Amino acid sequence: METGGRRTVRTMCPMNCHPTLCGMLVDVEDGRLLDVRGDPDNPDSQGFLCIRGHASREIIGNPRRLLHPLVRDARGRDAWRPVSWESALDLIAERMQRAGREAVATWSGHGLFANNYGTRVGSHLLRRFSNLYGCQWWSPTIICWGLGAFGLGLTGILETNTKEDMGRHAELVLLWGANLASQPNTARHLVAARRRGARVVTIDVRHTEAAAQSDDVLLLRPGTDAALALGMMHVIVREGLHDRAFVHAHTVGFDALAAHLDAHTPAWAASITGLAAERIAALARTYATTRPAMILVGGSSMHKGANGWQGGRAIACLPALTGNLGMAGGGLGPRHGSATHGQALASIVAQERRPPGHYVPNQMARIAEALVERVRVLLLFGTDLVSSFADVGHVEAGLARQDLIVTHDLFMNDTTRRFADVALPATAWLEELGCKSTNTHLYLMPPVLEPSGEARSATWVMRELARRLGLTEFYPWTSDEGPLDAILDHPATGYATVGALRAEGGMRALRISHVAYPDHRFDTPSGKVEFYSERALRLGLPALPVHEDLPASRYPLAFRQGRTLTHFHGFYDHGRALPSLAAADPEPVVWIAPADAAARGIADGAAVRLENERGELRARAHVTSRIPAGTVWMRDGWDGLNRLTSGRAVIPDEAVDLFAFSAGQAAFDASVEIRPA
Ligand code: SF4
Repeated sequence: METGGRRTVRTMCPMNCHPTLCGMLVDVEDGRLLDVRGDPDNPDSQGFLCIRGHASREIIGNPRRLLHPLVRDARGRDAWRPVSWESALDLIAERMQRAGREAVATWSGHGLFANNYGTRVGSHLLRRFSNLYGCQWWSPTIICWGLGAFGLGLTGILETNTKEDMGRHAELVLLWGANLASQPNTARHLVAARRRGARVVTIDVRHTEAAAQSDDVLLLRPGTDAALALGMMHVIVREGLHDRAFVHAHTVGFDALAAHLDAHTPAWAASITGLAAERIAALARTYATTRPAMILVGGSSMHKGANGWQGGRAIACLPALTGNLGMAGGGLGPRHGSATHGQALASIVAQERRPPGHYVPNQMARIAEALVERVRVLLLFGTDLVSSFADVGHVEAGLARQDLIVTHDLFMNDTTRRFADVALPATAWLEELGCKSTNTHLYLMPPVLEPSGEARSATWVMRELARRLGLTEFYPWTSDEGPLDAILDHPATGYATVGALRAEGGMRALRISHVAYPDHRFDTPSGKVEFYSERALRLGLPALPVHEDLPASRYPLAFRQGRTLTHFHGFYDHGRALPSLAAADPEPVVWIAPADAAARGIADGAAVRLENERGELRARAHVTSRIPAGTVWMRDGWDGLNRLTSGRAVIPDEAVDLFAFSAGQAAFDASVEIRPA
């Protein structure tokens, strides 16, 4: 679209709140960005653009942007000096070679996916680079949704139905740890479902944005989701509300599960979750007798806890028990990181080219150890590592021991400021070619503006390093379109190419099913839903879903973290670099129940200190009845927040790569005390 010198270009919002990814129109004139707005023709978002999406306007021309490669000779001082790309890249390559490939590690965050969430070309290229070079590479899913999906996968339900299917067909929707702040586009379809008469129930640890859209809200104690699901299953089986034909045809281990459920009465579940037994039984009956019923499982926050995978595993049994799978309006609904039936891409990671070596597993606790003991050069792409790893006090000790830390990002973040030796300026979403995928569509993101200053894309940086390291096969393509075309070369995309997408106006529907598992072939060795899992047993895990109490603590308040509408991921220095988001969310705020606040002499708005055996964090108290006594909650990402959380491994090292994603997340649990500051 072009009028005079002014152009309107179709792209996507550069945040990654999958399953929400919103279409964006940008107005540019003479190489300048004039405006961003929602794209009414985007079939996923239909013109919607949230406060975060509008804030992306503030990336371009932002005085805090990194515009030149920077180097400093001593950490801890703000003594950065600009250097040429040549000398920065020569320095990095020379240190990598000096350290030896197994002492070099790459790690990336959502900043690397800002232009390619869903197609993952940035992540594929970084993994390809790491495979060909033979250095450490760790999967970013361990920071996010991998642990919860591990539990879902053990039961065998990884595919999700779409939000459109939910809106059209679901009669009951359980938002189980799923918050609309994380996936705003789901709200439109939730409203459509309610308009048809569907009932919506929120299950969470606090009254979320989703709770406002719900007919009923159940607030449970953190880390007790598996207990609630087990209590519900007890009622369903004891009252004969399960779907016998489905269970017989499509599941294994029902008899063992039924016997196992004997002890998991609603009264037992009530004592664990803090919910009334009658409410647990009523929810079970409603779920079992309403068809179709869909469960939206939280993508990330819900799984920031050692019990997150057990929650996912037990919840995934519910649709199988009630025959709510492979049908419109049933199963599991949109979830961060999940795929629809048929959604897939080709791979360019060259896994088969990875040389033998001593590789640290995709396990956060092992990575933290390796940073202390073995890794000496760390290349970070689009991530604020110190804000995202658990027990960051331990991680910081490892970072301090590195010979060289390099960050590639749009802005300085806490990791860069405190630990980096080299800061490389990254291109923004309008300054490079990108392509995103939702659960249903592909969207092209063409380059619109010239790179600011000397900013360069991550792909360019990797190519330059590969050239210096002699990795001649890293980039066999002749343009930026090459790796994207290679990844899109799959039946699910209709063998899309960048050229074809461009010709089609920048969008294409994927060849997927809106209903997960239409063939009733599930993601398990048996091909059936596995209530009882031999695979789990072989990994040293319980064969049946269980609830396990979290370790006892002398700190009385269960601390949880999550999302808000004004913040998502570590992007843009956690939003602090974007004035509108920084103003909306100026300081750490902790939610605390009136009874807990009164017992501690804490008034609403008071300065407080959260503390436990690992560290402390200053915050402001938000005294609210929207959270039950005993639980406290804070938006994630604040510097120092993860000094409070546990970095212990949750599942065995042998289990972390059981699926195509990695699940080696640390526990992230924290019990705290809060006192007036
Ligand atoms: S919901 Fe997410 S993708 Fe959509 S506009 Fe907001 S930040 Fe961007």
